[in-house]
Amino acid sequence: MAGKKFVDSAVFPLVARIGREYTSYGGGMDVPIANCKRCGRIFNKVRRDLCPACVEEEEAAFLRVRDYLRQNKNATIGDVVENTGVPSEKIVQMIQDGRLLLRDNPNLVYPCERCGQMTQTGRLCAKCTQEMAKELGESTKNMRRHAEEKKDAEKKGFYSR
Ligand SMILES: [Zn+2]
Ligand SMILES: [Zn+2]
Repeated sequence: MAGKKFVDSAVFPLVARIGREYTSYGGGMDVPIANCKRCGRIFNKVRRDLCPACVEEEEAAFLRVRDYLRQNKNATIGDVVENTGVPSEKIVQMIQDGRLLLRDNPNLVYPCERCGQMTQTGRLCAKCTQEMAKELGESTKNMRRHAEEKKDAEKKGFYSR
């Protein structure tokens, strides 16, 4: 009897320990793991979608593009792709993220997502950005006016009663 008791207490913590390890790796409850969006490798996801190896590669690509543009101020996007090996979507992404500044690179342009006009900042050209802002401003103004009209109507209704 005494022997059995000894075995139980010795085995139980071991099972508990295995159980914990299983949940942290298999269930993903304790350690957030994910597949890297770029290469599919499994990694410990802290705050990014990419594994450390890809983060490093992306960083190296960014530095290659940035340095190339510093040295070749008149480069077009085609020149950058050709000389850095970084695909144009990646370069556009860097510009849209605001990481790559093109103040000194007048020829590095890409089409606006709304009208196709060439642009150097964000997803939209300056004209579309302005138009979108105006549209947005007008719709909020309209919404506010409707709300005020409704309030006025309610007030009138209240006082006329
Ligand atoms: Zn990766
Ligand atoms: Zn546009």
